[in-house]
Amino acid sequence: MPPRLPRDSPTPEHRLPIWVRYVLPVLTLLLAVVAGYSYHLNDGHSLATKDIFLNNILSADNGARVRRVLSRTPLIDGHNDLPYLLRIELQNKIYDRKVLAALRAGVLSHTDISLMRKGQMGGQFWSVYVGCPASESVGIDDATWAVRDTLEQIDVTKRFVASFPETFQLCTEAACIRRVFRHGKIASMIGIEGGHQVGNSLANIRQMYDLGARYITTTHNCDNAFGTAASTVAAGGDDIGATEFGKEHVHEMNRLGMLIDLSHVSHQTMRDILAMSTAPIMFSHSSSFAKHPHLRNVPDDILQLLVQNRGIIMVTFVPFFLTSTPSEASIHDVVEHILHIVSITGWDHVGLGSDFDGIDIVPQGLENVSKYPALLELLLENGASEEQIAKLAGENLIRVWEEAESVSRKMRNVLPGEGTWEGRTWERTDVGMPFLLEENKGKRIQGIGGAP
Ligand SMILES: [Zn+2]
Repeated sequence: MPPRLPRDSPTPEHRLPIWVRYVLPVLTLLLAVVAGYSYHLNDGHSLATKDIFLNNILSADNGARVRRVLSRTPLIDGHNDLPYLLRIELQNKIYDRKVLAALRAGVLSHTDISLMRKGQMGGQFWSVYVGCPASESVGIDDATWAVRDTLEQIDVTKRFVASFPETFQLCTEAACIRRVFRHGKIASMIGIEGGHQVGNSLANIRQMYDLGARYITTTHNCDNAFGTAASTVAAGGDDIGATEFGKEHVHEMNRLGMLIDLSHVSHQTMRDILAMSTAPIMFSHSSSFAKHPHLRNVPDDILQLLVQNRGIIMVTFVPFFLTSTPSEASIHDVVEHILHIVSITGWDHVGLGSDFDGIDIVPQGLENVSKYPALLELLLENGASEEQIAKLAGENLIRVWEEAESVSRKMRNVLPGEGTWEGRTWERTDVGMPFLLEENKGKRIQGIGGAP
């Protein structure tokens, strides 16, 4: 029994705050109406309407949760090929008013500024991609235009970024991403897609670093002086993994603090480089081999090595790597790949690497860069927490880059590598030129070149 109140004391109601007396009953009534409505629908009258009704409540809630996460964590994509489209379609000419207007809002492809804003993006690694030589008869040391075209890709990417200073800022260190994000801009980083693009040269890796590039994919779809490509194995070739010179390339990348990207390399090259690298590595755009056995994807045992390496796999949206029926690929396939990878690695080693603008078909539900929030919402619906989707969206990538920078700082007294690929041919020299050292006299390869 409740104790009896003295006559002169206020009734309990008078002691309750206003919100309990008036707001709470109204809220209770509203909840009762909602519960009654969903019960009514649940009664079998209209299941479809019920699903839509409940999904709307759910997605409105998850939409707000995603917006909250992305207001604190920059969403960073590991691989976008817009610079490639600028080259093959516009020959790198971007200053035309019509072009700039389209890049702001209205391209037919996957990436423009208004779509990026709708996608709540906070950072993008722009891929400065130049393809492997068209013919397999072109050897590793044969002259190509790959380095020239890569320099031009870097140039057009920087000019694109500089054309929209209110939107983009170039970042060459991890801390820059959060700084730029706080100012409401999208951090822009540069990644190079293959060792052939740096002429298989440690010196050129350093020069590309100085130009602002911050990752290099070890190989694209051709073997090079550093290692074996996945495409070689897919075509029936041997998987010889990383080369001896590939080890020197790993050491130089670690020394510079440049991220090693293992998308596109063979599985043995992945294993070899994961065993060698003292810095965390990245897969800028790869998915799970267990979910879909395409050689571009990463098998579970290598995902375990990735955890030991503290690296990141940025899950790609390329339909051919998601499912055996690419034309039917959807956002749900990407969710499944992410959840499988997470079941092996936990949430500290995943990210997003769409390959937008580098693919001819897209998964349903992930048509362009505006769709990242939909993907994060689906992950919440599948039981992920806000902290977990924040890691996937950007926290992991920033952590990986910071750790690579820290390895570089520890190596600051190490001299730049001077190694060259064993198959490198050197310029023939003019007969009459003087020698630097006594012991080299007579040892230069004599040729017919003129004096400098
Ligand atoms: Zn690629």
